[in-house]
Amino acid sequence: MAVFLGGCSFAKKQQLVSQTYVSMGTVVGVNLYVEDMELGEETQTLIAQELTRLEDEMLSYRVEGSEIWEINHSGGEPVQLSDMLYRYLSDIWELSEKSGGALDVTVGEVTRLWNIDTYAGSPEGFALPEEETLAAALENVGYEKIVMKQSLTMPRGMTIDLGAVGKGIACDVIQDILEEQRIPAAVISVGGSNLIWGKKENGLGWMIGVTHPREEGTYLGYLRLEGGCFVATSGDYERYVKVDGERYHHIMDPDTGYPAKSGVCSVTIVSDSGLLCDALSTACFVLGKNEGVKLAEQCGAEALFVEEDGTVTMTEGMKKLWLTEVK
Ligand code: ADP
Ligand code: MG
Repeated sequence: MAVFLGGCSFAKKQQLVSQTYVSMGTVVGVNLYVEDMELGEETQTLIAQELTRLEDEMLSYRVEGSEIWEINHSGGEPVQLSDMLYRYLSDIWELSEKSGGALDVTVGEVTRLWNIDTYAGSPEGFALPEEETLAAALENVGYEKIVMKQSLTMPRGMTIDLGAVGKGIACDVIQDILEEQRIPAAVISVGGSNLIWGKKENGLGWMIGVTHPREEGTYLGYLRLEGGCFVATSGDYERYVKVDGERYHHIMDPDTGYPAKSGVCSVTIVSDSGLLCDALSTACFVLGKNEGVKLAEQCGAEALFVEEDGTVTMTEGMKKLWLTEVK
């Protein structure tokens, strides 16, 4: 995804304070349009600190001592949750239910087995998981096996992996900071999750390019968006391993334990929640076009599907945002 500023002019007094860095295991881009440079720089620092804290204290399954790490190492014992994580997980379970389990963050044992992230860059040594091992891992998948009151109890052997929703949560957290800091306009990207923030004094709104899933470096089209919305894309083209012409990517079907094969190669969601956007992009990818459109509409979000044969399908609201050239 990319932001195009063509046709959008900023008031002269607004200046761009831009930073790009790696955080939460992905590339983060923070573009703030401010009149006061000092405010911009202070906000950059706040955002970077907050992302590190979010990852280390709550979301990471790798960082020892994070809430998710504690849950994954609880051996079936109850774990006390922070209010924030409780709310996030409640929202996630709700979407798991609505999607019939297409989104299931307890898919951790399966993603670990495939280990696509490790081999996506260099496929040497990649092997498909054994059927038996995969079946055993699938036994340990199922959000409905978790009991959550104020504490959470997860059966021994299960693993939560928030890879499908963490970047969206990060965008929600950043939105709160932008609001508090009274940042007039901003564009944020955390991996495939984006936040478009604020209003420019001049111009027609923000232009966001949607990556072509099969033609590297080109855009399928552009979204004209107003500030205050989130955009997320899930695709099979960023992290995958190709073996004998077959593409093994990182979005799993929790029913089969294999990379989802729904005929879709990318899904883009627009909504007013970062978490919902990220979660829906993954869920809709697994469900495929027909079920995915229904789910997005049910959640009050807009969706765009690109299928293997190049067909593009959009919800009615998405059609209104869609442009085929930069204007
Ligand atoms: P990206 O991380 O590339 O933005 P997604 O948001 O679609 O893509 O999240 C994919 C990640 O989510 C995977 O790397 C894995 O960690 C996790 N995951 C894979 N399949 C599922 C699933 N069906 N439900 C929940 N999480 C999943
Ligand atoms: Mg996602």
